[in-house]
Amino acid sequence: MKILISVDIEGVAGVYHAQQVRAGNPEYERARRLMTEEANAAIAGAFDTGAGEVLVNDSHGDFRNLLPDVLDPRAQVIQGKPRYLSMAAGAELGVAGMCMVGYHSRAGGRGILAHTINSFAFARIEFNGEPMSEAGLYGALAGEYGVPVLMASGDDVFIEENRALFPQAVFVQTKQATGQNSGVSLSPAKACEAIRKGVAAGVGQRAGAKPLRIEAPLQVTLHTQTPALADLFCQWPTFQRLDAMVLGFGAPSVEAAVRMLNCCSAMSAMLR
Ligand SMILES: [Zn+2]
Repeated sequence: MKILISVDIEGVAGVYHAQQVRAGNPEYERARRLMTEEANAAIAGAFDTGAGEVLVNDSHGDFRNLLPDVLDPRAQVIQGKPRYLSMAAGAELGVAGMCMVGYHSRAGGRGILAHTINSFAFARIEFNGEPMSEAGLYGALAGEYGVPVLMASGDDVFIEENRALFPQAVFVQTKQATGQNSGVSLSPAKACEAIRKGVAAGVGQRAGAKPLRIEAPLQVTLHTQTPALADLFCQWPTFQRLDAMVLGFGAPSVEAAVRMLNCCSAMSAMLR
């Protein structure tokens, strides 16, 4: 049995501020180690419940945060970008389930470091009128490959937003949000203990877990952070301008929608 663990950083215990999640800041070096330790806890939990193989997907920023020399050597790590499946890369490799570690709530929410894909560019993403978080987007992308989400960790707002999407998953709360940049966190050691147990329990219950399915073709609505970003994205000829900061497009699958969104995210670098 092969298990995929996708690891982001904003939901990791002890992380609250943008300086902790961006390379080039001294605090980032410590935060990426905390992220790697939570990944190791998840890897251990998967092996505790009989995984024969574990793939770890580095799912934050430029996708090269996890410290390969500190990672549990039993796992293999997926790093670097661009890549088609982004935070869900590895779902195409015959895995039995996906665990989401260090995830966060969506843009516009009250969670710690809440955003969706790109905080500079995207204010809100909807699929068929429903607001989507990164967990929803990439859980649905894994779902297209028949892969269920078995476990997820992050702050309380993240859990509240996403529990209904993955009713069979085990959720682990690492922090309680009191604002975008403040909260109450478990110690890293306690968070790792809880993540190891949560992954073990989630993988143990995989027989009852269903992949998240979003019916395709689907309609995507994208709210941008500025009108200039909407001007830029609407250079794409199939995008419709719905308002100064709102555009829409149709997509034949979740994978196509996610890839188009990640293209917009990459284009937005031009306006930074
Ligand atoms: Zn991130």
